[in-house]
Amino acid sequence: MKNKRFGRLVAVELTKKNNRSAWLCHCDCGNTKIVRADHLRSGAVKSCGCLNADKKKERFKDMTDFENDNFKVIEKVESHNQRVQWLCLCKHCGNTTVLNSSEIAKTKSCGCLKKGASAEYMAQIRDFESLKSTKPTKKNTTGVRGVYVRNRRGITKYQAFINVNKKPKYLGTFDTIEEAAKVRKQAERDFWGK
Ligand SMILES: [Zn+2]
Ligand SMILES: [Zn+2]
Repeated sequence: MKNKRFGRLVAVELTKKNNRSAWLCHCDCGNTKIVRADHLRSGAVKSCGCLNADKKKERFKDMTDFENDNFKVIEKVESHNQRVQWLCLCKHCGNTTVLNSSEIAKTKSCGCLKKGASAEYMAQIRDFESLKSTKPTKKNTTGVRGVYVRNRRGITKYQAFINVNKKPKYLGTFDTIEEAAKVRKQAERDFWGK
């Protein structure tokens, strides 16, 4: 096994670990690590640990504000079982949806494209800069600036956004329009000084 490569590891010197035969390995990243021979052979260990760290980093990559043709990522959603998901704004209709990073790349919409989103709805969501006004427009679905209706699995909630530095900032999701409006008002004071 000497000088043989196992993933990022190259076996350099035979040694022992917990009374089992093991190899001192050089990792591509520059570290050395003693790895049990059976773990090398089975492929259970392929790096000094840097491989997992890299994968983890990829998984936890901050996608906030990432945009493609279909979605704008608003924020990370803390999820059970360690799966990283992202709250995304669907650019086609303005609904939000929770997706993981591969879904963001593969999915075309929150589902609205199948149903067909109204042109008015689409215009409203593209025109984030208009949200900077505090006057509600008739285009706004809730009548409150920066507050949008979210329907998911038949449950209606209200999501508040505010434009900060020309970017929509997600303020939260609320059960009632009043709560959402209150948070939006406070945000206007906090971010715009109004
Ligand atoms: Zn390494
Ligand atoms: Zn949509």
